[in-house]
Amino acid sequence: MLSAAVPEPTSWQADAACRDADAETFFSLDESRQQEALELCAACPVRRECLEHALIHGEQYGIWGGTREGERRRIMRERRRAA
Ligand code: SF4
Repeated sequence: MLSAAVPEPTSWQADAACRDADAETFFSLDESRQQEALELCAACPVRRECLEHALIHGEQYGIWGGTREGERRRIMRERRRAA
């Protein structure tokens, strides 16, 4: 049973393809592990929600929504330019 101090996952997190995966895979500097994470993301039904979460919360590290850090920075630059 979860402690009351542990927040419940949001609805999209419950459907994440990575929910049973090793979180280290998504924060590894190793290219082959990053590819493994990106492949999971490619088949994930909540990829868009995950990416928006990462952008809104300024997640600087790791793979979120099928993107690496650099790609998220680029998306944010494009959004600022378009605003
Ligand atoms: S898009 Fe990737 S990081 Fe995000 S929930 Fe899905 S598998 Fe996990």
